Amino acid sequence: MKMLKTSLVLLLAGAALSAEAKLNVVATTADFGALAQAVGGDLVNVTVLAKPTEDPHFVDAKPSYIVRLNRADVLIEGGAELEVGWLPPLLDGSRNDKLAAGQPGHIAIAEGLAMMEVPAELDRSKGDLHAKGNPHFMTDPENGRHAAKRIAEGLAAVDPAHKADFAQKLQAWLKLLDAKEVVWQKQLAPFAGTRVAAFHNSWPYFARHFGLKMDLFLEPKPGIPPSPAQLATVLETMKREHIKVIVIEPYQSKHMAATVAAQTGATVLDFAQYPGGVKGTEGDYLALLDKLVTTLAAALAAK
Ligand SMILES: [Zn+2]
Repeated sequence: MKMLKTSLVLLLAGAALSAEAKLNVVATTADFGALAQAVGGDLVNVTVLAKPTEDPHFVDAKPSYIVRLNRADVLIEGGAELEVGWLPPLLDGSRNDKLAAGQPGHIAIAEGLAMMEVPAELDRSKGDLHAKGNPHFMTDPENGRHAAKRIAEGLAAVDPAHKADFAQKLQAWLKLLDAKEVVWQKQLAPFAGTRVAAFHNSWPYFARHFGLKMDLFLEPKPGIPPSPAQLATVLETMKREHIKVIVIEPYQSKHMAATVAAQTGATVLDFAQYPGGVKGTEGDYLALLDKLVTTLAAALAAK
């Protein structure tokens, strides 16, 4: 009896300890990581796999990522094939049942989102990286709102004791977003309908939200390197339509964008999908969008 009591005490002590321990959250990309930190606060320990300066389609999968996934309570991924080239083998290697698809510990943000550019027919034969629709949906702040809600629900499902904490932090963050959205709309409103060029088709959600057109790309198809024919088309279109800005992400050829820009009088603007991809935005999704909107508005106004 005494021994039973002792083990019961130990068991309860263990349970209390684990209740105090932080949830280990692994996010595939830094946008989800930033939101998990905002919604989870002190209750979560967040690690992000892809660097914010790394092409999310081609992440350098290190063995240490398997260890992180093995120890994770929660995985947050886009779930729209952005990570399809590198995440599945890491997940298999992690042997962590908590992160299996359909488990509360597996949060796929794209669930419940309306995807853009979903092709009528699935066809990867041409090397198209967006075979199931455009996976760069987090560039629309409304989708950021959806993601934060999904993350709060997901964290609560894994850690029900802290449901109210997550809900409260979510509401606080959504208020910040509400206020920012008003400012951003004002900043870009004068440029409604303006066309902007990009290296890769990462910005249709951003463009739709802010009434821009970002549908001219140096890449002939997502993931296919710029060809002379494509560059000629871009040059001609930029001259004809007086397109003033090419946005470029950290892992894309700035040299190539600069060459095109030099021949058309356009500006090359550093853009990023991920907090930390441009300076001063580390770990902060709202700061990133702030930077994108502010620098784009300035570049469009300058010409
Ligand atoms: Zn892409």
